[in-house]
Amino acid sequence: MMTSDQLISTYFETGSLPNLPRDHFIGGAWVPADSGNRMESFDAGTGAGFADFAAGTAADVDRAVANAAEGFEVWRNTAPAQRCAILNEVARLMRAEADRLAVVESLDSGKTLAEAQGDVAGSARLFEYYAGAADKLDGRSVNLGNGNAAFTVREPVGVTAHIVPWNYPTSTLVRGIAPALAAGCSAVVKPAETTPFTALMIAELLVRAGVPAGVVNVVTGTGGEAGAPLVADPRVRHVTFTGSVATGVGVMQNVAPNVTGLTLELGGKSPLIAFADADAEAVADGALWAIFSNSGQICSAGSRLVIHRDLHAEVLEQLVRKAQGLRFGHGLRNPDMGAVNSERHLAQIADHVERARARGIEIVTGGNIATDPDTGKGWFFEPTILDNLPATDDAVTQEIFGPVLAVQTFESEEEALALANGTEFALVAGIYTRDMSTALRMAQRVDAGQVTVNDYWAGGIELPFGGNRKSGFGREKGLEGLDAYTRSKSVTFAV
Ligand code: NAD
Repeated sequence: MMTSDQLISTYFETGSLPNLPRDHFIGGAWVPADSGNRMESFDAGTGAGFADFAAGTAADVDRAVANAAEGFEVWRNTAPAQRCAILNEVARLMRAEADRLAVVESLDSGKTLAEAQGDVAGSARLFEYYAGAADKLDGRSVNLGNGNAAFTVREPVGVTAHIVPWNYPTSTLVRGIAPALAAGCSAVVKPAETTPFTALMIAELLVRAGVPAGVVNVVTGTGGEAGAPLVADPRVRHVTFTGSVATGVGVMQNVAPNVTGLTLELGGKSPLIAFADADAEAVADGALWAIFSNSGQICSAGSRLVIHRDLHAEVLEQLVRKAQGLRFGHGLRNPDMGAVNSERHLAQIADHVERARARGIEIVTGGNIATDPDTGKGWFFEPTILDNLPATDDAVTQEIFGPVLAVQTFESEEEALALANGTEFALVAGIYTRDMSTALRMAQRVDAGQVTVNDYWAGGIELPFGGNRKSGFGREKGLEGLDAYTRSKSVTFAV
C-alpha cells in the first residue's frame, strides 16, 4: 500500500492518482452509468481536471434502490452482534487505508491534508461508536394492567437515501450511514458532484469488511439528474440531506408525496459571542479557526463575531494579524488554509464581498480572489474580515460559506442576544466569557442546536448535532443519531 508521501509525489508527477474508482457502486459491483455519460472532478488547488466518473440518471438510481431494497432484507435479518462485528471491521479497514482516503479527500475537496486526515480518523471512530450501539437497540416491556401484556421493538426504517455535500464528503456520509447500518437499514448514497471519490472507496471497503453486497450503494452525478429521482423514490423510507437551504426545501417538497422521513442539515450563520471579560487572545484564536478552518466552508463555521465594544479593538488587532499570517496553498502541501472547492463557489464568495464593498462595508483585511503563491494557480479566497456591520446587512444575514468573517459589536447582554438570534439560522453559538452565570444565561436563551463555552469547536461524535429554524431539523451523531433510522413498534397480548 502506498504511503501519503508516495501518493502525493505520484499525483504531482502525473496529475492523477492510480486506481481511483470510475463507476457507480451498486449491488457490490462497479457499474457504468446507464447513459454512458461521464463527468470530471477538478483539483481546486490547481484548477485542473484529474479524474472522471459516472454521471448517474434515474435508471442508475432505480437499479441502486432495487439493490438496496433486497439488501435491506438481508441486513435487517443479520444478527445485531454480527452487525456490530462487521462495523468494527469497517473502522479497522478505514484506519488501515487512512492515508489513501485522506489524500483523495484533500485532492477532491481542496481542503488541507491535515483536515482530511482528521475527517477520516473521525469517520473510523463513527463506525466504531455505532458498532457499539448495533446490539443495544432494545425495546421495553410495558405494564398495561390485568389481562394484557405489551412490549415495544425498535425496527430499522428500511432503505435510506443520503445526499452528501462537498465540504465534508467523508464525515457527512459516515455520520449518516454508520447509524443507518447499525440500526439494520440499507442505503443509497449520492455524493456531491465535485467530490465523488471517497464515498465510492468507502462503499467498496464496507463490502470487504463483510457488509453484504447491495446494502450500501453509491450513485454519482448531479443533484438534478441523480439526487432528485433518489429522494422521490417511494421505496426510500428516510432521506438524510445535508446541503443548502434552497435545495433542502426542494427535497422536502419532493419527499412529501411519499410521506418519507427526513433529516435536514442545512446552512448556518453562527455567532461567536465575546463578552467584555473574555480573554482577548482566546477570543482571537477561537474566532480565527471558527471561520478560517476548511476555508470557511463549514455549515457550523463561526461566521459572525458578536463582540463587546470594550474588547473590539484589542481582539480585532490580534485577529487581523493572525489572519494575515495564514499560509494558503495546495491542500496536499498542507498549508494553514486550502482552496475553495469549485470555481463556481469561489465566484459566489467574491460576489458577496464585492457587494459588501459596494455598500461601503469596511473590509479590514483580505477581500480578494487569490491563487496558490507557489504556482499562481487554483481557486483561493483571502482570509477576509468585514467590520462594524449593521444587524440587517446581507453579510450578516446570508450564509457566504467561505473565509469571510462578519463582525458586529454590542454593549448590553440583551443586545448581544438579539444580534446572536438575529438571523434565520440557528446552528451553533459560541460564548466567550469568564462569568459562568452569563454563559449559562446565554446558553439557555440563544437559539442553536449546540452551544459551546470558551472553546468554539468543542464537541465530538458522542454529542448530537443539528440545527433549528432554517438550519434544519433532526439530529445526527450521538445516540440521538440512531432515532432517524429506527421506529418503534408496539405489540400487545391479551393473556
Ligand atoms: P447543495 O444544496 O447545492 O448540494 C448538496 C447536495 O444536494 C449535493 O450532493 C447535490 O448534488 C445535491 N442536490 C442538488 N440538487 C438536488 C435535488 N434537486 N435533489 C436531491 N439532491 C440534490 O449544497 P452545497 O453547495 O453542495 O453545500 C453547501 C451547503 O450545505 C451550505 O449551505 C452549507 O451550510 C450546507 N451544509 C450543511 C451542513 C450541516 O451539517 N448542517 C454540513 C455541510 C454543508
